[in-house]
Amino acid sequence: MQGNMMQVPLTIPFILERVRTVFAAREVVSLLAAGRDEQGQPIPKTHRTTYGAVADRALRLGAALQGLGLQKGDRVATLAVNSFRHLEAYLGVPSAGFVVHTVNIRLHPEQIAWILNHAGDRVLLIENVFAAMIPAIKAACPQLEHVVVLGPLPQSFPGVLDYDSWVMGHEPLARYPDLDENDAAGMCYTSGTTGNPKGVLYSHRSTILHSLVSAPKDALNVGEADAVLPVVPMFHVNAWGLPYTCAMFGAKQVFAGVFSDGKSLAGLMQSEQVTLTAGVPTIWMGLLAELDRAKADGQPYDLSRLTRLVVGGSAAPEVMIRAFDERHGLEMLQAWGMTETHPLGTASQVPPEVSARSDEGYTLRAKQGRAVPLVFLDLIDEQNERLPHDGKTMGRLIVRGPWIAQEYYGGEGKGSFLTLDGELWFDTGDIATLDGRGYMHIQDRAKDLIKSGGEWISSVDLENAIMAHPAVSQCAVIAMDDPKWDERPLAVVVPRPGQTVTHQELLDFISPRFAKWWLPDATVLTDAIPIGATGKFLKRELRDEYRGYSQH
Ligand code: ADP
Repeated sequence: MQGNMMQVPLTIPFILERVRTVFAAREVVSLLAAGRDEQGQPIPKTHRTTYGAVADRALRLGAALQGLGLQKGDRVATLAVNSFRHLEAYLGVPSAGFVVHTVNIRLHPEQIAWILNHAGDRVLLIENVFAAMIPAIKAACPQLEHVVVLGPLPQSFPGVLDYDSWVMGHEPLARYPDLDENDAAGMCYTSGTTGNPKGVLYSHRSTILHSLVSAPKDALNVGEADAVLPVVPMFHVNAWGLPYTCAMFGAKQVFAGVFSDGKSLAGLMQSEQVTLTAGVPTIWMGLLAELDRAKADGQPYDLSRLTRLVVGGSAAPEVMIRAFDERHGLEMLQAWGMTETHPLGTASQVPPEVSARSDEGYTLRAKQGRAVPLVFLDLIDEQNERLPHDGKTMGRLIVRGPWIAQEYYGGEGKGSFLTLDGELWFDTGDIATLDGRGYMHIQDRAKDLIKSGGEWISSVDLENAIMAHPAVSQCAVIAMDDPKWDERPLAVVVPRPGQTVTHQELLDFISPRFAKWWLPDATVLTDAIPIGATGKFLKRELRDEYRGYSQH
């Protein structure tokens, strides 16, 4: 017997209608770049609008795209920073039946063109600050029919549309097209940290479900009283879904545009009374340095409303979680996910019987956390056999759930999907442990793992321990070739300004925590560790640089 409940399709127009009617007065604040100063730095200008105006313009955008003759399912690319205009595209493009394809602006121009061609984008919405790329993109992407510039252009570009006047020249969409909840709504390519970029196609349904599960207290804790600053870019996994989650629940949204330095972010958090923010560890390192500086100068920022700093994208070192808490009273919440998981997979909230600020609390918060509802995690070995959840056994982390990719666009990367006992799983490429309470702890990317004498060494664990040393600013541990053990760990360390540290000092510092054979064989000091397009260490580049390194 079937239940008697309605089958209502879960589609993005539901979110658009909600902000248009229920939350119309709620603010959307964007830091825009108004020209450049003498040093070539962008000059910030605050722009204020409301969800009501964003919804109206999103509907006009939908109508304008239809006016270009696009067909249902056509891709509309964005090369844009976080701002109200990008939010309009998030809401308006899928609500008019098209797919909003967010492209990572930090990629190499050739890779951007490759992605635009691979996705078959027909329209590109490009931020004015990147307008110089337009001729090269047009030349490299013959199927791209229309280029629309977001924000005022300093000079006229032939053959491009000006977003604001184009959108306002259309009446709002009068009727939503018929949408199936499984229709594609969004598209995002993996950033290619490992291998070629691959396209992930989010559906209306997966976006709605992901928003519903991201908001509760034990996930990211987003509600109408919040002011949310997603520092994580809207071109990267939908800014972790926050623009949709905030819109669904009516939270004020604050966008930092091209500004991601500690000073700009701290200032914006203070002036807009931000309650929740989200970003990768490298961003939070910059914020921490700025908060420390301001405090030392006797003029600390007032961030009294800020209660959650969500961190993800790569492992958050425990020392950083402690530093925000102990020096600034700010609580970090670690989350894990990836492009293929929309991204929210786990959140590291501590259970009620553990104090977040106890040693046990910090240990748990430095893990990636427990799966959010409807997401399932498991561990398998090289032969696809399931492994125990004992908190010790490392295995390949696999995941399944209603907002996890079941394939890549164009059917590429089939090897990442496997069937176990009749169920489809996605192989994350991460190596992790799971414990009896469900806490998942990433040990490494499979490709970054150090294989010494047939055993595995977690580079992430070593990095976190080394980064706790007071003279260390950043650390990446990579494999170097070894004639006897195949691979051995090498620590690449950026010391704090004006400080230095020796290999032996680091070993003395971390050796109480590790088996002897885990300890790095050598340490090299360097000025900077290369960082990729999504703010993560580029270990591939480091490995190339130090492949043949030998301390002998
Ligand atoms: P790419 O795969 O191109 O690096 P993604 O943003 O999809 O881009 O990266 C997902 C990966 O980032 C995960 O598989 C995992 O290795 C890493 N990651 C994400 N969040 C965390 C976290 N909290 N701790 C450790 N690693 C993380």
